[in-house]
Amino acid sequence: MTASPAGAPPTGPAFSTLPLADHVLANLQRLGYEHMTPIQAASLPLALAGKDLIAQAKTGSGKTAAFTLPLLANLNPRRFAVQALVLCPTRELAEQVSQEIRRLARAEDNVKVLTLCGGATMRPQLASLAHGAHVVVGTPGRILDHLGRESLVLEALNTLVLDEADRMLDMGFADDIAAIAERCPPSSQRQTLLFSATYPDDVAKLAARYLHEPQEVKLTERHDASRIRQRFYEVKESERLHAVGLLLNHFRPESTLAFCNTKQQCRDLVAVLQAEGIVALELHGDLEQRERDQVLVQFANRSCSVLVATDVAARGLDIARLDAVINVDITPDAQVHTHRVGRTGRAGESGQAFSLASMDEMGRVGRIDEMQGSESVWHPLAELEAASAGDAASGPLRPPMVTLQILGGRKEKIRKGDVLGALTKDLGLDAACIGKIDVNDFSTYVAVRHDVAEQALRGLNAGKVKGRSVKVRRL
Ligand code: AMP
Repeated sequence: MTASPAGAPPTGPAFSTLPLADHVLANLQRLGYEHMTPIQAASLPLALAGKDLIAQAKTGSGKTAAFTLPLLANLNPRRFAVQALVLCPTRELAEQVSQEIRRLARAEDNVKVLTLCGGATMRPQLASLAHGAHVVVGTPGRILDHLGRESLVLEALNTLVLDEADRMLDMGFADDIAAIAERCPPSSQRQTLLFSATYPDDVAKLAARYLHEPQEVKLTERHDASRIRQRFYEVKESERLHAVGLLLNHFRPESTLAFCNTKQQCRDLVAVLQAEGIVALELHGDLEQRERDQVLVQFANRSCSVLVATDVAARGLDIARLDAVINVDITPDAQVHTHRVGRTGRAGESGQAFSLASMDEMGRVGRIDEMQGSESVWHPLAELEAASAGDAASGPLRPPMVTLQILGGRKEKIRKGDVLGALTKDLGLDAACIGKIDVNDFSTYVAVRHDVAEQALRGLNAGKVKGRSVKVRRL
């Protein structure tokens, strides 16, 4: 993935204009947060004054800090009780949010942040809760489960955050959210912050029910045109899927998210790309949590070039760096197009967005232009064909890494260092050939560079990790 030298930092007012303690400001500076993003500039003054908020913001806008700083300001670290709860639609987002809270809480003494999500085993969660936590981040189902068991008590809660409220409602969490809110102190005795990318009626209803005299913060969503380059290509229906391969082989982005309007189109596209030698995986709703994790691990560790998904399947997916987004089909909803495209070029990185449109989809493109307030830029498909034919020597796009799965994880007490040790000390591989290592409960995934994959696979299978023989396979 490309680094972000061109990344323009936010240019809003400085954090030092906010009523924040010196140690908090110093920590922000250490993190490289000097100026506020638009959503932070609009919401922090109100939220730090204790107001309830309905804020329209999407992932990548800096919204996590926009609710975390108020939540931390309300917190008393010396009081050992859950004082803040953040509800998120998915485990991936919850984990991301917990990480950001931990970074921002570094300035405080010992703030404990706990992530409670479904799909993870219950026992470690119960043990962590027994040790006490100040901030809990989780998905509604699992939070409710803990409330039912009384392993989680929210009597001391002073901040409730509903993150990506629209997605939580889309995923059918309305009843769970209601049941959780019932177990919190009344809305007049807590601060409630609701963040949502869109603001449909059901979100408005949710806000009316659980927020106390809320202030609304709305920003018209606009991409920074200097960071995201959008190109449109006119295609015939028969050439659409093949055109995706042409785009990938021409522009050679390391990580691409390709959106299709239907599941069938996703399946067809993955088949076409795989046949062309491109490593593509589909993310769909029928995957079990373990399979979903496996797909996301491969994408994040750079051993899968393209993730193919419908808008529904990509909900809650939070990918830090994405070089390109491809709209394989044009969505009928212009706002959805803007969200899709906004997945790339985040946090100062530059990104590219490619859209394939047939004659039948030109009306949709017109609405997108209208909403974005700019004319779409068109390029001929032939431009790509010429370029990739002339560049045949470079072959199909290949991801830089390969994932090896070690059958054994946290349950076997395997840690990252054990795997790194086995590869570098025992097998003598250069640490530069080894990428991300993800240790899950029962499996460990390690990304290794192509040229050493065979050696690593054979070596690990023949040798030991943590003093034990392990089974390893290539994904
Ligand atoms: P979020 O929308 O909360 O997922 O944030 C997107 C990314 O922007 C995260 O990687 C944050 O660490 C980063 N970020 C948030 N606020 C700022 C800021 N004011 N200055 C620089 N980076 C920021």
